[in-house]
Order: sequence, then C-alpha cells, then structure tokens
Amino acid sequence: MGDPVRLLIHGASGRMGRALLRLCAEGAVDCSVVAAVSRRPAQRVVDGVPWFAASELAGVPAFDVAVDFSLPEAFGPLLALCRQRRAALVSGTTGLSDAQRQAMAEAAGEIPLLWAANFSLGVAVLEELVERAATALEGWDCDIVESHHVHKQDAPSGTALAVGAAAERGGSTPRYASLRAGDIVGEHLVQFTGTGERVELVHRATNRDVFARGALHAASRLRGRQPGAWRLRDLL
Ligand code: NAD
Repeated sequence: MGDPVRLLIHGASGRMGRALLRLCAEGAVDCSVVAAVSRRPAQRVVDGVPWFAASELAGVPAFDVAVDFSLPEAFGPLLALCRQRRAALVSGTTGLSDAQRQAMAEAAGEIPLLWAANFSLGVAVLEELVERAATALEGWDCDIVESHHVHKQDAPSGTALAVGAAAERGGSTPRYASLRAGDIVGEHLVQFTGTGERVELVHRATNRDVFARGALHAASRLRGRQPGAWRLRDLL
C-alpha cells in the first residue's frame, strides 16, 4: 500500500459531491481529500477538509486526482488546472459540449483521464445486454426512457446516450424520452418493440453512492497511470 491518494473533489456541495465526501470520510478508499471545490462554499473548513470557491481554483494545494461531478460550465477551468498540474482527472459531469469533449481528448495526451456517463456496475452490464438485444432484434423499434429528479439539467441523460450508443453498435436507431419527477436518482428503460411482442431492459439506481463509490475506486486506480483516455472497465 502506498500513500493515500490525494483527491480534489470538484462540485463538492452538490448531490454527488456530498456523497463523495461522506464516502471518503467513511474510508471507502484509502484517500485524503486535500481540497473541496464548489461555486460558493459556505465554510472554509468542514470536517478537516479545506473548501475553495471556483474562483480560487488556481490556489488549491497539490493533488493526485481530481474527481469532478459538477456542471459543464465548471469543467473547462478544472481540465486546465489538471493539465497544468499534470494531475489525473475522473469526471462524471454530463451535458458536455462537443468542444469540451475535444478538449478532453487533447488533454488525454498529457494526463490520465477517465470520463464516464455512469459509474455503476449495473449500467455497464445494461450496455452489454442492450448491444446484444439490438443485434438479435433487427428491425425492431428501440426506445430509451430515462427518469431523473427534477433538478437534473441535461436531457437525455448522459447514461441514456451511452446506452443508446450501445444500441447503435448493435444496429438499432434509438429514440429518447426524458421524465423529470420528484427525487428519482436515475432509471433507464430500454424497450425493443416488434410485432406482437416487446423486450424491456431496465436499470434503477436507488442510491447515488453506487456512482460515488465507482468514481472513487476509479480515482484510486488512475493515480500514476500513463496519460490517456482510460475506460472504467480498464480500472475496476
Ligand atoms: P448538483 O447540482 O447537485 O451539484 C453541482 C455542483 O457543481 C455544486 O457543488 C456546485 O457548487 C458546483 N458548481 C456549479 N457551478 C460551478 C462552477 N462554475 N465551478 C465550480 N463548481 C461549480 O449536481 P449533481 O446532481 O451532484 O450532479 C453533478 C453532475 O454529475 C451532473 O452533470 C450529473 O448529470 C452528473 N452525474 C453523473 C453520474 C455518473 O455516474 N457519471 C451520476 C450522477 C450525476
């Protein structure tokens, strides 16, 4: 065992950020949170973790990996910081633009980087099942219905698009529908409809800890890797 991995948590005051900080405090991975960054922190130090405002990003202490669950507008400055510091980046922020994806691809030439639309094991399996079903059910309609809490900003969800890409690899042309209701953590239904029959594959996340845990394990395994665009399955 080496030294604990030094983490910067970006988007720390959000739903995901709070789950990440709690799991770190509970010792889910061997880590030390050296900085928590949010748009406007309410306090300077919380449970021994120093907090920084987005405008103070340049002044954060040295870190090994940034774990980012924030918003697209916050992504660019963090990517630039990771490049400048030669630090690794794990990001689950969805709704990124094509230009931001391109910037990420360029950064992967310099730093180890992992972006994933979904950090749960169940969705990784769902993607494989969807690709198989799409291959076998040629000519069937394919519809992806995703449901999330009312605060979610992007639609369709990043996970729906990733699952849709799996359907496309199998030859389907998926259509998307998005529901925003109550406090739903995340549900993805993939429906293949033929004549007189229907196949439904569904994943339901009931707790965001599954995403936070996956991201923290990925972060602890990304430290010290070669620069490049890593995939979740390479690390977990
Ligand atoms: P949230 O709205 O609860 O939190 C957003 C956080 O970003 C807050 O801490 C806020 O202060 C911070 N922020 C906003 N603007 C900022 C800026 N300019 N600079 C720095 N920080 C800024 O959101 P959430 O529900 O925690 O989700 C965050 C992101 O993670 C979303 O894109 C969501 O879709 C995504 N997500 C991904 C997964 C996955 O497995 N990949 C799972 C859940 C959520």
